[in-house]
Amino acid sequence: MKKKILTGDRPSGKLHLGHYIGSLQNRVKLQNEFEQYVMIADVQALTDNFENPSKITENVFEVAKDYLSVGIDPEVTTILIQSQIPEISELTVYYLNLVTLGRLERNPTVKSEIQQKGYDDSIPAGFFCYPVSQAADITIFQAEIVPVGEDQIPMIEQTNEIVRRFNRIYAVDYLKECRAVLSKSPRLVGIDGKAKASKSLGNAIFLSDTAQEIKNKVFQMYTDPGHIKISTPGRVEGNVVFTYLDAFHPNTEEVNDLKIHYQRGGLGDTTIKNILNEVLQDFLDPIREKRAKYTEEYISFVLKCGTLKARSVALKTIEQVRKAIGVNYF
Ligand code: ATP
Ligand code: MG
Repeated sequence: MKKKILTGDRPSGKLHLGHYIGSLQNRVKLQNEFEQYVMIADVQALTDNFENPSKITENVFEVAKDYLSVGIDPEVTTILIQSQIPEISELTVYYLNLVTLGRLERNPTVKSEIQQKGYDDSIPAGFFCYPVSQAADITIFQAEIVPVGEDQIPMIEQTNEIVRRFNRIYAVDYLKECRAVLSKSPRLVGIDGKAKASKSLGNAIFLSDTAQEIKNKVFQMYTDPGHIKISTPGRVEGNVVFTYLDAFHPNTEEVNDLKIHYQRGGLGDTTIKNILNEVLQDFLDPIREKRAKYTEEYISFVLKCGTLKARSVALKTIEQVRKAIGVNYF
């Protein structure tokens, strides 16, 4: 039997290059070797967007289009919508008993997101607890492999703690621990050079951006503020253009030569930005073209089939869980 993969994205916007390099690329690579489930996590996205639900619901189909356009194949990967599988919510409720508030508070990703969102003392409980719902997402499919970006490592740790507690308290052994699979760029920085590229921070290049939007963003990229004259040496570390060249340029040697030249002096920001722009246009052109061809009917069909299949798997797990706890009365 193939081992299972679970991964997914919040439909809080369209997907960007950070998603591609951090996770989507691995999903495409692994989809034939493993039984893969990819979740559009609308329930999770609502935890910090509950006042503006249309922002989430309108992006569910957009995220699905992004998946297909980068090569996630619905014939082999099961693509599902989280809200349509109520068994995940049920499992979350059982898991919430196994986690303390203190433990939730220590999650470094949630901590920084709370700060970013300015929640201070008014953190929505649903948002605070989303790592628990993520544990339910992973374990309801008995997934052992989770291809994600670096920000998700604390979620995997917390999932495994819950799994161990559940198995111990209810004297079972079928909930499986999982491990993260990171890519070579597990945290792609945004064009501003500050935080990670993120849908919510407006600092990302989207897979569906037009050629002009891509070019504008490349030319806005943070480089080396001390590199004022072309002739002076420039810094490569923390220079977003080089970060993206490292991640997306198909020829590592060429990038190394550019780095040496830039550090020596004599290579201007406009030149490296033009090179990166070309690399990204070549990469994103076919994705955008493919993306434009999917009809709403086809996407709806793919999501319906995937969700139905996923639900049948989820039902099997929840039945076992109910039995373990003893809430299987009839
Ligand atoms: P939001 O701002 O709504 O949280 P996001 O851009 O952070 O959106 P998510 O849906 O939270 O995207 O993340 C989905 C997956 O993509 C996760 O596995 C996450 O680790 C990965 N990911 C997101 N951004 C990046 C990035 N900049 N670099 C690498 N991986 C990323
Ligand atoms: Mg995120």
